Amino acid sequence: MLASFGHLARGRGTLRLDSDPPPRYRLAMTGFPHDKMWRDRKRCDRARRAYDPAFDGVFFTCVRSTRIYCRSICRTTRALSKNIFFVPSAAAAERLGFRPCLRCRPESAPGSPAWRGTATTVARAVRMIEAGFLDSHPVQALADRLGIGPRHLSRLFQQHVGASPAEMAGTRRVQAAKRLITDTDRPLSEIAFEAGFGSIRRFNDAFRKLYQRAPSSFRRARTGQR
Ligand SMILES: [Zn+2]
Repeated sequence: MLASFGHLARGRGTLRLDSDPPPRYRLAMTGFPHDKMWRDRKRCDRARRAYDPAFDGVFFTCVRSTRIYCRSICRTTRALSKNIFFVPSAAAAERLGFRPCLRCRPESAPGSPAWRGTATTVARAVRMIEAGFLDSHPVQALADRLGIGPRHLSRLFQQHVGASPAEMAGTRRVQAAKRLITDTDRPLSEIAFEAGFGSIRRFNDAFRKLYQRAPSSFRRARTGQR
């Protein structure tokens, strides 16, 4: 699953040159390297006060006075640093008798069983999109296949991927086409359909939107290098 996200990360990076990938995504790419971070009180407190989303699910904040625990990103926790401590999981907080915050819902933080369940659904969707499912089916059909509603699918993608299924399919199509343009001498019209574009116009539009360049410019660049 992480491999799929990594692949997507590259596509996403190209799509949005002006901004970082969304945080959850960054977390998925890095493969949760912060498993001991909760022991580092200063670092956790800094991340907590910055509401740094990169550490969502990496540690949880227990507030002694209220006996409530929160995600690191929770904006309702205004507790003083001396009144809190950090734990590595929601389960750890509950074992100590803390209740989950109703606002940030720590039981659904990244890495939690609920999150992993939805991540599995998203990973399945990602695999289907990468196999070209959305080139010949509407998003509704993808949702049907996964046994969830299209609105839920869209929410899950925003949460785990930071892009919609259609955007992801669009990125995949352009990348597939670009590879064929640079690696083969096949006619562009053939490549457009092979990569999953419904028409030449859409093929051209997608390249203009993403690269501000025509598809053919990638081929000229290749010839020039010879
Ligand atoms: Zn909270």
